[in-house]
Amino acid sequence: MGMDKPNRPYNNSPTSVPSQMPEWIPDPSLKGQNFDQLLQNRGIRFIHEHSTPCPNIVSVDSNQHEPLCTFCDNNGMMHYGSFEIWGVFTGNSIEKTFEAHGVWEIGTAVITFPTEYPDGTQADFNMYDRLTIPDFTVRLWELKEYEPRPGNIQELRYPVKNVEFVSSIVDGVQKFYVLGIDFNINDQGQIVWVDGRQPNYDYSTNHGEVLTWAFFANPVYIVVQCLRELRITQEMIGGQKVARRLPQQILVRRDFLPDSSAETVISGRR
Ligand SMILES: [Zn+2]
Repeated sequence: MGMDKPNRPYNNSPTSVPSQMPEWIPDPSLKGQNFDQLLQNRGIRFIHEHSTPCPNIVSVDSNQHEPLCTFCDNNGMMHYGSFEIWGVFTGNSIEKTFEAHGVWEIGTAVITFPTEYPDGTQADFNMYDRLTIPDFTVRLWELKEYEPRPGNIQELRYPVKNVEFVSSIVDGVQKFYVLGIDFNINDQGQIVWVDGRQPNYDYSTNHGEVLTWAFFANPVYIVVQCLRELRITQEMIGGQKVARRLPQQILVRRDFLPDSSAETVISGRR
């Protein structure tokens, strides 16, 4: 047996209102240009370096990387190019949290970038690309053995902007080194030791004095994942609908080296 038909009569509408919907609906395009402009006007400046695997391997079959490679910072990835781009940080993570993307580790952040560099060329992001913020510095530390090198030059992990504290402990006695007296910083961010003020180096053991460095450098981020790689909209241009890319979203992680024995993000060995 079928259901009963509705049998309750409803009242007639006491009045009638014209429809609020326009007869003709304007094109609801999301204007990609506006999105790009927002990033330009509210973003911060990054230097984007592209990544590619280091070819200093024994053979493609084994993928065995030269253990003491000097071409790639010994992490298996090579960087090339230097492109300026403005992006907006969204969701800088300071503790482990669960989000739609899975676990956010400490030091990760999401950055939204336009699809093009300011000169109009396409901006593509790939895993292990390097992003440096050139207009800010952060304080970092590093343990490093002194090594005598030509020109008294020593490099830390990142180009140094300023040095706050340098110290070593030799035979139970703490020593301090001071910027401007014992060493200087050159325009490439390298340490240049003043002649006669270098730390000790033992040529019989090939080990130098271990120094702890507290220094300031531009923060460096590594691209971990492209979250929104290809976002496409249709734009109405001169009565024609045209496909256009929209800004992309990248998950990044601070490249950070607590000490010389620790591994970086990029090595993927965590
Ligand atoms: Zn290499």
